[in-house]
Amino acid sequence: MVGDVDTVRGWVQDASRVTVLTGAGVSTPSGIPDFRGPNGLWTKDPSAAAMFDIDRYRADPDLRRRAWLNRRDHPAWTAAPNPAHEAFVALETSGRLRALLTQNIDGLHQAAGSSPELVVELHGTLFEAACLDCGDRVPMRHMLDRVEAGEDDPACSACGGISRSATIAFGQALDRAVLDTAIEAAADCEVFVAAGTSLQVNPAAGLCRVAQQAGARLVIANGSMTPYDTVADAVLRDDLTEVLPAVVRGL
Ligand SMILES: [Zn+2]
Repeated sequence: MVGDVDTVRGWVQDASRVTVLTGAGVSTPSGIPDFRGPNGLWTKDPSAAAMFDIDRYRADPDLRRRAWLNRRDHPAWTAAPNPAHEAFVALETSGRLRALLTQNIDGLHQAAGSSPELVVELHGTLFEAACLDCGDRVPMRHMLDRVEAGEDDPACSACGGISRSATIAFGQALDRAVLDTAIEAAADCEVFVAAGTSLQVNPAAGLCRVAQQAGARLVIANGSMTPYDTVADAVLRDDLTEVLPAVVRGL
């Protein structure tokens, strides 16, 4: 099913609570590569996926050194938000945004001007580091300063344990409180918009079902097919930097 932007705009206009779920496709126009797409990190370098495997990360100091260099060189440090991010700021300004759930770790929603208290980072954030042993969290900047100063695998300063970005890796469950907040927001909206996510990864993808079961209209805006297209009320295939601003135009 392919939806029509004007119809979706009407639904959003009539709604008082819109919950949004965003994925990598919202940030790729800002130069943040996705993982599995044609230019994805893991498509180009399958070995990079190992850095997201917690057991291999623990076991392999060499892998950790490469991971720290990747974090230091991550495009998020210099990326700027794009019109897709800005569309959600407009939605918030109109008073309709219930919550902005994101699978992205790049901080671009906050950089665009979305209120941090409305942004729910399902997969964590690159802007903090967390110790795998004691859980201590520090700003990523502190760790990267140590990398710049010559430490190639900076240990947790609280316990000496192994540290990594405060992001969800393979084999790690989502933070329960974060997931509960997301489920609550999905169940408490009139329109649920899933943008730039291929909806392949649970439990994030399952939020679409939570929203629909609670009576919300489901809108999918994504460049390629998703498993939820057949049950969605509208599917928008156009470029997100054009279609999302069009959805919120005139709010
Ligand atoms: Zn520690």
